[in-house]
Amino acid sequence: MANYQKVLVAVDLSSESAVVLKKASLISGDDAEFHVVYVQEPMDNIYVGIVPQSAAFSGLGDLEAQLSEELKHKLKALGKEFGIAANHLHILHGSPAYEIHRFANDNKIELIVIGTHGQKGLQLLLGSTANAVLHGAGCDVLSVRIGAPE
Ligand code: AMP
Repeated sequence: MANYQKVLVAVDLSSESAVVLKKASLISGDDAEFHVVYVQEPMDNIYVGIVPQSAAFSGLGDLEAQLSEELKHKLKALGKEFGIAANHLHILHGSPAYEIHRFANDNKIELIVIGTHGQKGLQLLLGSTANAVLHGAGCDVLSVRIGAPE
């Protein structure tokens, strides 16, 4: 089997990201092109519906900009740890599964690597980022079980 040459690694920038990246590098060709993608969801997407539109939302734009800076630093540090060039580190905005699919299609990605927790119960019913990415992906998807022995 030919090794994958164009690989998208989806990271949530938690400590799990290194596990997912490590697995991606193990199964890809030595000269594979890695794109590490984090998708920042707009905060009002997350909280509207939970907290009614109110004064709680004033200043959300500033908070989002601060968060964006922090996330950039984290992604840069992760890229440095794994020797990934700055132009292959991407912060996208929107819904994670939608943006990951769009990026993969636009960039002719051959493999998407993503973490999964092996959800049970309510989480399984509601779905997860890995489930959402798997459904509708136009290329292979590897889900890396987080917490499983290496
Ligand atoms: P979750 O289903 O949110 O527990 O996340 C499982 C995996 O989905 C993570 O290990 C990442 O690979 C990926 N993921 C979750 N959130 C994001 C995000 N905002 N951007 C990119 N990938 C993500």
